[in-house]
Amino acid sequence: MISTKSQREIELMRIAGEIVAKAHDALISSLKPGITTRDIDTIVERVIRENGATPSFKGYNGFPAAACTSINSTLVHGIPDSTVLKDGDIISVDIGACFKGYHGDSAWTYAIGNVSPEALHLMEVTKQSLFEGLKKVKPGNRISDVSNAIGEYVYGFGYTVPFEYTGHGIGAQLHEDPSIPNYGEPGRGALLKKGMCLAIEPMVHMGKPFTRVLSDDWTVVTRDGSLAAHYEHTVVVTDDGYEILTVLRNKEDHSQNG
Ligand code: MG
Ligand code: MG
Repeated sequence: MISTKSQREIELMRIAGEIVAKAHDALISSLKPGITTRDIDTIVERVIRENGATPSFKGYNGFPAAACTSINSTLVHGIPDSTVLKDGDIISVDIGACFKGYHGDSAWTYAIGNVSPEALHLMEVTKQSLFEGLKKVKPGNRISDVSNAIGEYVYGFGYTVPFEYTGHGIGAQLHEDPSIPNYGEPGRGALLKKGMCLAIEPMVHMGKPFTRVLSDDWTVVTRDGSLAAHYEHTVVVTDDGYEILTVLRNKEDHSQNG
């Protein structure tokens, strides 16, 4: 069952989404060689709590942190720890915040220092695949139209997507129906309707699509050790398209405040 949200619910999700965006924004100046993934998690949790929200991921099925920090061949669900980031690493940081009972969820992949052209290309393609998917988010299209647009774009560069990790509906629960794969035939699944809230999140491998979960039962890595990237926005379906919820809404004000 896919819910549509009321104007009041959407406004709470705008606030949750902006808090997630603020947490990402607060990281940018710190993402340099020498920082640990625990440092990243500390910044993320501080920003979320300073803004009156709670970290959606902390305690979710027992996940121990506010952010997922996934380095290089780690696809998703990396646990922050004392690992020090090095020049040339890429790191995907996935952040969720809950404000008055409603969630925002957004992931971004960042370059640490000087990264290889191959890694930058993977990041660029993954980011653009998110926007290729978003172009299909409008009433009357179907869920798999979004999936197909992401997959076809990614496959065009010879990259792959994992089969078992998907985007999802979002609202009062972090993960709601529907599941939104990053590949597949178009024209299938539920019709998109105004007020549906979706977390669209392409995950892309440079190599083969297969994954493996490490013995911590969380960390998902590419089985062939190839690099992976991950970009995600939470959006609401509008009359004729979508609105991204996980963005800074008063960017000028924010940058003036540093
Ligand atoms: Mg996420
Ligand atoms: Mg998500």
